[in-house]
Amino acid sequence: MFRFLKSLFAPSIQPIVIYENRDDNENDIRKYFLQEIEKSPFLKKESHNQVLKHLLREINILKTENKLTVEEKKALGINSRLSITKELVNVLNEDGLKIEYPKSIITDMWNRASNTKLSYDSYIRAKKSGVTKFKLISSGGGMGDCDWCTQKQKLDFLSDTDISFFLHNKCDCEPYSYSYLEPEINFND
Ligand SMILES: [Zn+2]
Repeated sequence: MFRFLKSLFAPSIQPIVIYENRDDNENDIRKYFLQEIEKSPFLKKESHNQVLKHLLREINILKTENKLTVEEKKALGINSRLSITKELVNVLNEDGLKIEYPKSIITDMWNRASNTKLSYDSYIRAKKSGVTKFKLISSGGGMGDCDWCTQKQKLDFLSDTDISFFLHNKCDCEPYSYSYLEPEINFND
């Protein structure tokens, strides 16, 4: 049945196109989206390009008229009360379809990438204005922080290595880091 449904919704397989930098913005959001897509265990390989287009808002796979029927959802083991599009089902692998709220796979990727880019942008701005020391602060008061973030918050200051680790989003906070970098500003300088 599963195979039958998969063939029913089989996407026309598109080659993965890694977007060339279309502008000179070194810190292009595309880079962060690709990072999220590549590390997601819930996407079909052949759908990466489709997901990237969605994240870049060139298409919308979460809001279409092409919704699964109750029977189709039951056959795939998806909660029949959820509204879910065939376009979303098409990009997910079997593990992705087992997630309670499949839409969150995509929205969490968008949030994590945007969050990391924002942190990186403000880090670069602060560095340019002469800040050399940063502290990692939990915006969630420590609730839900991963072990890595919890350990680093105890330090007086982060090194550049710590910061790049943080910005590469290698922490395990779910769905994304609740920590932010606070620049140390010395008003006596
Ligand atoms: Zn973390």
